[in-house]
Amino acid sequence: MQRTVLKFGGTSVGDLDRIAHVADLVSWRASQGEKLAVIVSAMAGETNKLVGFARGAAGDNLSGPSFDDEYDVVVSSGEQVTSGLLALALRKRGLKARSWLGWQLAMKTSSAHGKARIMGFENSGLLDAVDGGEIAVIAGFQGVTDEGRVSTLGRGGSDTSAVAVAAALGAESCDIYTDVDGVYTTDPRIVPQARRLDKISYEEMLEMASLGAKVLQTRSVELAMNHQVRVRVLSSFAQPGEDNPGTYVCSEDEIVEKQIVNGVTYSRDEAKVTLYGVEDKPGVSARIFSMLADAGVNVDMIVQANARGPERANMVFTCTSADSENAEKLLLNSKADIGFESLSVSRDVAKVSVIGVGMKSHTGVAGTMFDALYRKGINIDVISTSEIKISVLIDAAYTELAVRALHTAFGLDAT
Ligand code: ADP
Ligand code: ASP
Ligand code: MG
Repeated sequence: MQRTVLKFGGTSVGDLDRIAHVADLVSWRASQGEKLAVIVSAMAGETNKLVGFARGAAGDNLSGPSFDDEYDVVVSSGEQVTSGLLALALRKRGLKARSWLGWQLAMKTSSAHGKARIMGFENSGLLDAVDGGEIAVIAGFQGVTDEGRVSTLGRGGSDTSAVAVAAALGAESCDIYTDVDGVYTTDPRIVPQARRLDKISYEEMLEMASLGAKVLQTRSVELAMNHQVRVRVLSSFAQPGEDNPGTYVCSEDEIVEKQIVNGVTYSRDEAKVTLYGVEDKPGVSARIFSMLADAGVNVDMIVQANARGPERANMVFTCTSADSENAEKLLLNSKADIGFESLSVSRDVAKVSVIGVGMKSHTGVAGTMFDALYRKGINIDVISTSEIKISVLIDAAYTELAVRALHTAFGLDAT
């Protein structure tokens, strides 16, 4: 029996006409004999609106245990609406369908409200319903904690809901329908010459997602890789039955033609923190970064330079701009304890990265990258590398220029 999971993002269910179109697509898939679970996001813009409501109601108290659980109750409601609407639209087309909310599945998650991790499903009859030919329309993004409270999976989390359901159902494929027709070499909205990839490896997709390509939530790719779920990204704007190949996210060995660089990404959600005159002795870095980790600050690039003579060094690290306020407060509060002279935070920075599994076996990628940036007069602030990516931190004003220059320099432009 072929079970398939389909997921439709915010723009794809943005109004009743779009939901009717989704119902036509789902109805066509069902007519092909597939047993379907369909995950939906909230209507476009809805989650942002709900986040605003939660913040507005809470006043100054915008994080921590007295905010996070009720934040989840509010922001998860957008998906409840679309799951019911799509179920109704499917019934209108004569199909058997019902909505499922996170607690009904039950999709159990950790208690980390706002960024909960999926732990597993309790037996809820979902499998029987799907195998019995009922289309399960599942509210994405939401789950339930062991304490019985509603949780959410972090922004973009419906992708992760879809992959988790696909893994639990042993689905043949997890089709992520969205407002672009696949994964591109870079964001097609800023580089019109971007090319759609037929296939991309889990490893590369994981790097692309975590470095800013928001087409898939990072955790969804991690989960797909761990459970070997075949994910496909395709257009929700296609007509039912129309050729719509999209992009397969699959194992590296399924990809015959390996490029050195397959993608360029950018993230503007970055902040650079510089600590001046940090005492240069064992244990100081450990103290700084353990403290930040304990506070949930996700540190990315780190550079230490001996610019203050033998006793003192400067230390630079990056984190998301959302985390940077917290990081700044924590560090200033323990200034004497850590032992540094001063601190500055810059939020006008962006991280631009090139990604490709071919880097494992090719040299010269860094040289090509730095040369392309130099030719556009773009200064590189911080550099970090892994086996399959190189990232640089630059002035945010040059983000698009840098992405375009790198896309061209690595021969990715469509002809
Ligand atoms: P959905 O609402 O369907 O979840 P998202 O807005 O989360 O959709 O993700 C789709 C968007 O991701 C596209 O509109 C596109 O602008 C952006 N994007 C960024 N990088 C890429 C990329 N490399 N390939 C495709 N889309 C990308
Ligand atoms: N609606 C949620 C968000 O906007 C989840 C999602 O779209 O995947 O983040
Ligand atoms: Mg998304």
